[in-house]
Amino acid sequence: MTSNTSGLVCGHHHLYSSLARGMPAPPKQPTNFLEILQQVWWRLDTALDLDMIYWSAKLGAVDALMSGTTGIIDHHESPNAIEGSLDVIAQACQEVGVRVVCSYGVTDRHGAEAGQRGLEENRRFISSGGRGMVGVHAAFTCSDELLESASGLAKDLGVGVHIHVAEGIEDIAAGSRLENLAQSDWLLVHCVHLDRNLRGTIAHNPRSNMNNGVGYARPASRSNKIILGTDGIGADMLEEMRLAYVAYRADDVTLSPDLAWSWLENSYVFIPECRDDQVTWSYDHSDSPWHVAFTPGIRALSVRSSEGESLLHDGLPTRVDLDEVRHKASEAAARLFAKM
Ligand SMILES: [Zn+2]
Repeated sequence: MTSNTSGLVCGHHHLYSSLARGMPAPPKQPTNFLEILQQVWWRLDTALDLDMIYWSAKLGAVDALMSGTTGIIDHHESPNAIEGSLDVIAQACQEVGVRVVCSYGVTDRHGAEAGQRGLEENRRFISSGGRGMVGVHAAFTCSDELLESASGLAKDLGVGVHIHVAEGIEDIAAGSRLENLAQSDWLLVHCVHLDRNLRGTIAHNPRSNMNNGVGYARPASRSNKIILGTDGIGADMLEEMRLAYVAYRADDVTLSPDLAWSWLENSYVFIPECRDDQVTWSYDHSDSPWHVAFTPGIRALSVRSSEGESLLHDGLPTRVDLDEVRHKASEAAARLFAKM
């Protein structure tokens, strides 16, 4: 027995991290969130070139499609391959048949000049017709000047800002620094330690937060609209919904699966067409929050786009060869690890 739903949306992803699985251990064991950034992710992103970004995005897009996810809100950083990086990600997703909202996460970590080049990549991509938001890494790696420039650029382009907010305690000042900048079209990611209300939608990433030991974000206590993201750990949104559910049950046993399901639904504001994509699942109650919350391992069997194209058939992508994508991605991963 099977059942159908709309295509799902991953509300916060890092497609550049698809190659990271199996990467060599960092030289020193990280003991907190900041050290995880410094010793894992900031070493990885500086080693990326456009070819690695392409195969990482393509592998991530295939993973998403095979999980019934037809839309991705991506947040990208590659300080040594900034220019053109968003085009590469958009192209890889388009070739697989997955919709993507791109953003380049600007930061002053590599100097003010690199911050400006990041802004320019957002501007160039979006003003030339790319679907995007203006990306910002996080307030704690940006000067006030860069935060204001990003906010102003987003306004000029008529899009929101996609930014990590108070993910770890290191970014506790984010609330006060963003209070006068944040707008209702901003996407605020994590908000674990956010000390006040900010305008915008919150992307909650339960698995990533547990993995980084940053604490529980208590999204149900916020007045913002909530959506769900994976923060780069695949794009299986039914799985993330189950995790969101058990994470809040550990905090408040009165909450029902309907809440986490509504967080999946909320993301159609960002990519409305996904609502008209159709996913057929390996389980006969995949449209019921109460079934999905207690049924691990539901698989996407087929995906039909809103335009009527078969994108996934018998669990396999139709536009690209799965084995080839995995093979090329593993070659790119080997180059990436060697460079790190
Ligand atoms: Zn993230």
